[in-house]
Amino acid sequence: GGSDQAATVTSSSALPSRVRDLDCDDNIIYFIKKKLRVWCRLPSGQWESGVIQSTSGECAFVSLSNGNVVKVSTVELLPANPDILEGVDDLIQLSYLNEPSVLYNLQCRYSKDIIYSKAGPVLIAVNPFKSIQMYGDDLIAACRQKLLDSPHVYAIADAAYNEMMREEVNQSIIISGESGAGKTETAKVAMQYLAALGCGSFGIEHEILHTNYILEAFGNAKTSRNDNSSRFKSRVVQLADGERSYHIFYQLCAGASTNLKERLNLRIASEFKYLNQSGCLAVDGTDDAQKFCKLMEALDIVHICKEDQEHAFSMLAAVLWLGNISFQVTDNENHVEVLADEAVTHAARLMRCNPDELMLALSTHKIQAGKDRIAKTLTLQQAIDTRDALAKFIYASLFDWLVEQINKSLEVGKRRTGRSISILDIYGFESFQKNSFEQMCINYANERLQQHFNRHLLKLEQEDYELDGVDWTKVDFEDNQECLNLIEKKPLGLLSLLDEESNFPKANDLTFVNKLKQHLSSNPCLKGERGSAFSIRHYAGEVLYDTNGFLEKNRDPLHTDSIQLLSSCRSELLQLFASKMLNQSQKQATSVGHMGVLDFQKQSVGTKFKGQLFKLMHQLESTTPHFIRCIKPNNKQLPGIYEADLVLQQLRCCGVLEAVRISRSGYPTRMKHQEFAKRYGFLLLDASASRDPLSVSIAVLQQFNILPEMYQIGYTKVYLRTGQIGAVEDRRKQI
Ligand code: ATP
Ligand code: MG
Repeated sequence: GGSDQAATVTSSSALPSRVRDLDCDDNIIYFIKKKLRVWCRLPSGQWESGVIQSTSGECAFVSLSNGNVVKVSTVELLPANPDILEGVDDLIQLSYLNEPSVLYNLQCRYSKDIIYSKAGPVLIAVNPFKSIQMYGDDLIAACRQKLLDSPHVYAIADAAYNEMMREEVNQSIIISGESGAGKTETAKVAMQYLAALGCGSFGIEHEILHTNYILEAFGNAKTSRNDNSSRFKSRVVQLADGERSYHIFYQLCAGASTNLKERLNLRIASEFKYLNQSGCLAVDGTDDAQKFCKLMEALDIVHICKEDQEHAFSMLAAVLWLGNISFQVTDNENHVEVLADEAVTHAARLMRCNPDELMLALSTHKIQAGKDRIAKTLTLQQAIDTRDALAKFIYASLFDWLVEQINKSLEVGKRRTGRSISILDIYGFESFQKNSFEQMCINYANERLQQHFNRHLLKLEQEDYELDGVDWTKVDFEDNQECLNLIEKKPLGLLSLLDEESNFPKANDLTFVNKLKQHLSSNPCLKGERGSAFSIRHYAGEVLYDTNGFLEKNRDPLHTDSIQLLSSCRSELLQLFASKMLNQSQKQATSVGHMGVLDFQKQSVGTKFKGQLFKLMHQLESTTPHFIRCIKPNNKQLPGIYEADLVLQQLRCCGVLEAVRISRSGYPTRMKHQEFAKRYGFLLLDASASRDPLSVSIAVLQQFNILPEMYQIGYTKVYLRTGQIGAVEDRRKQI
């Protein structure tokens, strides 16, 4: 066994790293014959490495590393990499890129606190859940001097920076992964590096790093999966048990000075319904009051003036008081009126509107009756939804406004190069037991990003081929366009049909799913399911969606009356928020042909999402992308635990392995002419002629009758289709 192992090591170093026949059975047969080290899937589903002792029929006896011998079917075996390749920096270096090999390689590194690895052009980051000695000025300096030769976020940021300077092209760093995988931390590491690079020349690095502080206070919350999770704004009004709303609310309540508290009619967090509903007010190891001081400091540093700070804080207080507004049922049809208590008074004062108007807007909707508009009293649920939609809108608008202010303030006096590096921290692909509208939106966005990723890899590949004088038009690449068509095509795509149904009073979740089946069943990515469910075949796997609530979630819940109320407030911020909303809607109304302040057309949630996604993609398309995939090794947020199943599922979802495989699917085997000639040249029957390596390569291929469509000859390399190397290799071994 030992000598065979050694033989593999030499042959693997002689063979270029890309020789890997993922789909080729010959390989494992060869492994079995030679009794090499293999991965063996145990009945538990776990992969263990071992050495084949003997075979009988379809079965093999494998001696595992723990000394046990197991009998398994040969279909449960995969080739393992030679020891010399243990823990390589780049997965591409592995001779065998099968799942257990990849998992083991990452685990090997992780156990030594090496959290970064590469998969071709992609950086993989495995969350350490503890501080590791991989950051800081010394390492930044080393990276700048090109002395850091292992994978790192710094190196990615450095590459982006250099490429921006050299090519004068904008760059983007796209970071994805599931909740708690480390996207936001990774983005911060990248920013830290870029800020250090900019030292002295721009002078705003200090400010930029402090923006993180503000964005996190207003954009992050504690969830069950991450104490500091970047979240959507619906969290303002509804919390799951044990979770929190945005950090800023708790920070404000805990840290505001007595004076500020008085001006905002603030109480402690536990007195606000939006905050106390989940039974969780604190995060372990965090002092909210102290964080508030830091936030105020950060706001000063990025030059948000005191007046604007106060405006922002009053919006937060208004949101909290809105949440305390309650309703009283007045008849047996569940119609309500607003309880006129301190919550109304305080909310109205902070919003600077008339309390009666606020009460009216929260308990009635004006509807058109003939030529007149009449007020219709709301039911309890409608009133609650109206109130919550208003609170969410104010908070979301406040967040956008804050970002705008920060951007404005950072541009002041900035020495602009006209070039940029964007860092995108985006939520990864999701597939739960139960998937709804939110998952569909997230997965749709990821589908688009995956296409962007694939196309970028394809471009890199094309450049490789072209440089070597190889015709790449003969290479087919898989694409996920079909799935994108299913979702976004007009007029017959999922989002369009959803909008149609959302506007149709008699429609429901079932009629929606039937419409999908009726119009889209020819698309191979759609699968109708029983009842009101359907499945989409995403690049990362099939996801079952339950349409229950789809229509409701797609409708924008913010009522026209609420926007009118906001326009009538004397708070400048609220007026601004309302006018932005009206502008946006009117633009759309004009394009569909009807207008009017009262009847403005509101965009559905899905269509709005699509619009924002298109804008994002448009921005990204003019940049050179750099990809980072974050992996969460366990769900406990604890260091030192590497759960292979969990990692594997994420590796599949982020599409890295798939994409690397796809991009190699044209001619996965590539070998330099010298190497090819050295390895196989002696097989030539006519060895008399002394030839250059390229001619030797051609002669070998011809002698073995490899069909012309099965290979290409580049200036420097031989390119072979899957499996072709096997025939030549077999002959070599026989001799
Ligand atoms: P979400 O999608 O919920 O926003 P996320 O992917 O942004 O999640 P982070 O907030 O970046 O996740 O990371 C979660 C936690 O993991 C951090 O609060 C930190 O404790 C830990 N963590 C992540 N990356 C690192 C790292 N490089 N070093 C040390 N700890 C880390
Ligand atoms: Mg985050």
